Amino acid sequence: MSDTASGATAARVEQVFAASGAYREGHFKLKSGRHGDRYLEKFQVLQWPEHVVEIGKLLAEMVRTTAGDRPIDVVIGPTTGGVILAYEVGRQLGTRGIFAESVSDANGARRELRRGFRIAPGERVALVDDVVTTGASLLEMIPLIEATGGEIAAIAVIVDRSGQLHDLVSPATGRRYRAQALWSLDLPTYEPGPQTCPGCADGLPIEAPGSSGTSSGSSRSAPGLSTSGPGSHGTAPG
Ligand SMILES: [Zn+2]
Repeated sequence: MSDTASGATAARVEQVFAASGAYREGHFKLKSGRHGDRYLEKFQVLQWPEHVVEIGKLLAEMVRTTAGDRPIDVVIGPTTGGVILAYEVGRQLGTRGIFAESVSDANGARRELRRGFRIAPGERVALVDDVVTTGASLLEMIPLIEATGGEIAAIAVIVDRSGQLHDLVSPATGRRYRAQALWSLDLPTYEPGPQTCPGCADGLPIEAPGSSGTSSGSSRSAPGLSTSGPGSHGTAPG
């Protein structure tokens, strides 16, 4: 069981994801080739500044609670969603918001600070991200921050679909960090076929939402509006 925020917070995040079309039910062909009955597309939420402000507030509260009395100096996130979140959480905490980019070389994938971004030794760092699936992005971020001499004071993400976010162990130092999510979500996947996949068994039409970018519709209801687009759950925030 992962370390998550209160039930009310989780319910609100789920509501925002559903209302914006970022969390959908149906019959989906996933990139892995497996099928799913629910689908998460975080950028359907992140495209709305008003949603980012609200979710950023929840993340900022989580960071403040975790970090305790001493303030945060900088908020950092991994590309791509982490760029937006670090910026907004940094705005709400009154700090810098920076990001680290993915670099692949002979030693594998890692994260790097570019564009003149710096974390000074002793600075207190909040690490934020959108959706944690395997935790790989966060595990790439931790050694980067440790190498700067910065102190990881809080790790907060929107959605944990890993089920194992409670602690993250640095691959570089072995140090253990507590990570928290606003919303923990179990998204089962299925082998295609009527014997194994409920959607196939029910004969539901299947969509591959990541492939074309057109299947899910990009004109969901705007924040604060009561009009609902096709497929909207009709729960406009506000
Ligand atoms: Zn299926």
